[in-house]
Amino acid sequence: MASEGPRPLVAGNWKMNGSLTMLKEPRLLAAMLKDVRLKADVMVCPPAIILRRVKSVLKGTKIKVGGQDSHWNPSGAHTGDISPEMLKEAGCSAIIVGHSERRTNHGETDETIQKKAKGVQRAGLTAIICIGETLEERKAGKTLEVVSRQLKGSVPENSDAAHTVIAYEPVWAIGTGLTPTTAEVAEVHAHIRKELAAIMGAEGTATRILYGGSVKPSNAAELMSQPNVNGALVGGASLKAADFLGIIKVYT
Ligand code: PEP
Repeated sequence: MASEGPRPLVAGNWKMNGSLTMLKEPRLLAAMLKDVRLKADVMVCPPAIILRRVKSVLKGTKIKVGGQDSHWNPSGAHTGDISPEMLKEAGCSAIIVGHSERRTNHGETDETIQKKAKGVQRAGLTAIICIGETLEERKAGKTLEVVSRQLKGSVPENSDAAHTVIAYEPVWAIGTGLTPTTAEVAEVHAHIRKELAAIMGAEGTATRILYGGSVKPSNAAELMSQPNVNGALVGGASLKAADFLGIIKVYT
C-alpha cells in the first residue's frame, strides 16, 4: 500500500549497464505492464548511447525514458557531454542530476548540480535531483543537516513540482543491500518535505520525493508505504524486467 501525496514515480537508473542485447528487458517490462492499471509513473534511464533504441521499444506504452546526466548548456564546446535539449530530442522527459556517483567520481558540487538542474528545466524536462548522506555523516548525526545543505544548494530558484523530483539516496545504501529503517526514511523524507516548502513554497508540497538505495521487490512495499515517499529511484533491481516489475507492482 502506497502513501498519499503526489502521483508516485518509479524510475530505473541503468547506470553504465546495458547493450543492445538488453533491449529485451524493456520489451518484456512493457508486455508485463500492458494490462496493468498503475497508480504511478514508470521510467527507465538507460545509457545515452541506447536511449533512442529503448525509446523505440517503448513506443506506444506509458513507460517514460530519462537521461542519467546532462551538461547545463544547450550546446557548445563540451567534449563528451550531452545537453538536456539533445536528451529531449532523443525522447527523454526527465534527467537525473547529482547522483552520488557523479558527486564522488566527477567531483560535482551542489553548485554544479544546480546549474545542471536549471539546464534540465530550461529544456522543459524534469530534473531528478539526487541528495543523500555518506555513512560517516549519518554516524556523526549529520544526515538532516547534509540533506538541507544539498537541497538549498542544488534546487534552482523558481523550481516547480512538474519539473522537479528529489531523490533521497543515502550513499551507503546504494548498491550495498543496506537500507535505512523505515522510521529513518520517514524522518528524512518529512524533513525534505519541510525544506521544500521553504524553498519552493506551495510547489514543495506537490514535488515528488523518491527513496533510492537497495530498493528491491522484497522491501519496496514497506519503503514505499512511508509518508512522503512518492516512489523510488532504483539501480540494480531495474536491470531485470521481473525485478523492476516486482517493485512497480507496489503501485497496482
Ligand atoms: C542508485 O544508484 O540510484 C541506486 C538506487 O542503486 P541501487 O538500487 O542499486 O542501490
